[in-house]
Amino acid sequence: MLIPIRIVPLLPVSTELISSIVHPLRTVYQNEVSVEQPAAKIVDKTYDDSRAQFNSTLLISEMLRRYPYEQTKIIGITGVDLFVPILTYVFGEAQLDGPVSVISTYRLDDAVYGLPPDPALLFERTLKEAVHELGHNYGLYHCKNFDCAMHTSTTAEDIDQKGAALCNDCRKSLGL
Ligand SMILES: [Zn+2]
Ligand SMILES: [Zn+2]
Repeated sequence: MLIPIRIVPLLPVSTELISSIVHPLRTVYQNEVSVEQPAAKIVDKTYDDSRAQFNSTLLISEMLRRYPYEQTKIIGITGVDLFVPILTYVFGEAQLDGPVSVISTYRLDDAVYGLPPDPALLFERTLKEAVHELGHNYGLYHCKNFDCAMHTSTTAEDIDQKGAALCNDCRKSLGL
């Protein structure tokens, strides 16, 4: 049995969207998934004026400082646009085999690309990203199987190409 997952809604973010991924996450990782009280102001500390975006690595540090992370995997989910200095943006970032990851729903939303909002697609993409970053937290690397949630994705379309589940190889390495 894998150690439990705690989701921290990092405002601003849709708490309904977060609630919708709890049960599917339980199914993928076959463990406990709980949702913390939404946290205001944490993302504010990671804002970068020159980029008008939020630094995901700093956000992971803030989470480590604020949340006890013994015997748990903690994923922060936010609606703000995240970046790391070498990239234009990131959908998420995780500590490999470590306790904390963060994901952003910002670029998962078709409305950002000038398309009509698609709540079902936003749900699918958010779930896939959460499964992906948590997979890194549990020690998984990127997977060559195109269907697997651990396959790497650069664009929202890439995310749409893969599934929300882990492939047999990835499941096996987690003992699932
Ligand atoms: Zn990855
Ligand atoms: Zn895989």
